Amino acid sequence: MIGVQLRYSFRLYPSAGQCAWLAKAFGCARVVYNDALRARETARSKGLPFPKTGDLSKSLITGAKQTPERAWLGEVSAVVLQQSLRDLDAAYRNFFDGLKGKRPRMGAPRYKSRKDTRQAVRFTANARWSITPGGKLRLPKIGDVKVKWSRTLPCVPSTVTVVKDSASRYFASFVVETGPEEVLPKTTPEVGIDLGLGHFAVLSDGTKIDSPRILRRSEKRLKKAQRALSRKEKGSKNRDKARTRVAREHARVADARREFHHQLSMRLIRENQAVAVEDLAVKGLARTRLAKSVHDAGWSAFVAMLEYKAARYARTFVRIGRFEPTSQVCSVCGVKDGPKPVHIRVWTCGTCGTVLDRDINAAVNIAKAAGLAVTACGAQVRPGLVPAPRSETGTHPTPRPSTAR
Ligand SMILES: [Zn+2]
Repeated sequence: MIGVQLRYSFRLYPSAGQCAWLAKAFGCARVVYNDALRARETARSKGLPFPKTGDLSKSLITGAKQTPERAWLGEVSAVVLQQSLRDLDAAYRNFFDGLKGKRPRMGAPRYKSRKDTRQAVRFTANARWSITPGGKLRLPKIGDVKVKWSRTLPCVPSTVTVVKDSASRYFASFVVETGPEEVLPKTTPEVGIDLGLGHFAVLSDGTKIDSPRILRRSEKRLKKAQRALSRKEKGSKNRDKARTRVAREHARVADARREFHHQLSMRLIRENQAVAVEDLAVKGLARTRLAKSVHDAGWSAFVAMLEYKAARYARTFVRIGRFEPTSQVCSVCGVKDGPKPVHIRVWTCGTCGTVLDRDINAAVNIAKAAGLAVTACGAQVRPGLVPAPRSETGTHPTPRPSTAR
C-alpha cells in the first residue's frame, strides 16, 4: 500500500471585493511567470546559462517591486509570486524530462494570457493561509472567503490553489496525501470492465451501466449552446453572451461527468477485489476519430480514478494491453472465430453453442486476459435457445388459480 495524492476541490464564493483582489493576484502571478519565461528564453537564444530561480526571484520579484512599472507586485502575497516561479520550474522540468523520454513528451512552457480559460494562484504553507474555525478559507491579503465544503478533507493540506474557471467560478483545490488507513475489507468478486459507446461500461458479471440522465441532458444542452454560438456573428455582443453560455454548459457537463465517474469508480472498487480494463490506447485504434475525441477524455479520467482508488483502498487494478481482439474470441470455450461487424450485438458460438452478448463477452475476455477469476454469469452464458418469458411457459413456482389467465 502506497500513499496516494488526491485532489479535493471546493467551490469558493468570494465577495466582489475579494474577486478584485484575486484578479490582482492572478495578474501578478501571471506577470512574474511570463517575465521569468522571457528571461529564460532570452538567455537561451543568446546562449547564456539558464537563469537560476533564486536569481530570478531577486530580479523579477524583489527588484521589480522597486521599479515604477512593477511596483504593484507588492500588493499581493510574495509567496504567490514565488510559487509562480516554482510552477515555471516544474513546467520546464516536465518539458526536459519529456525530451529525455522520462515521461510523456509535452510542449515547452508557454506565456500565460489574461484570456486563458483557467486562472490560478497557489498558496503554500509559508503563505500562512488557513481554514478559520468558522470554515472559511483565510488567504493572505485577500481575507476570509466563503467555501462550500462538499466533502470532508481527510487531513489539513499544506497547499491550496485558488482557481477561476472559464465560467467565472472560483474553486479551492487541495492536494492531500492519503495513507493506508483507508483500506477496505477484503472481498471476493473480480470484474472485467468494457468501456463502450453504447453503454458507458459493461461488466463481466453482466451488468450494463449507462451514463446518468442528468449527464446526457447537460451534454445535449451543451451541444445546443455550441450550435447557437456558431451561428452568432464574429465580434458581436451576442456572440460574447453565447460564448459565456457555452462555457457554463461545459462546466456543468464536466461536473456531472466527474460526479458520475467518482460514484461509479467508488462502487466498483468497493464491490470488487480486482478490476481490469483494456488499455485505452489500444481501444482507441478501433474507433473513428470523432467517437474517440468525444469519449476518450471521459474514459481516461474514469480509468485514472479507478486506478488511484484501487491503490488507495488496497484493491488490484489491472490494465491489459494488446491481446486477442475481444469480439473475436468466445469467452466461454476460447475459440477464435473471426471479426464481426459492429452492428452484430449478439451471436451464437459455433463451437460451444453459447449465445454471446458482444459487450459482456468483451468484459469477460478482459477479465480473463488480466488473470482474474471470473465466474460465468447468467447474462453471459445462455443456452443455445433463448428461454421464453415465464408467463408464456405456463409453469409457475407458486400455484395459481386457473381463472387468473
Ligand atoms: Zn464457444
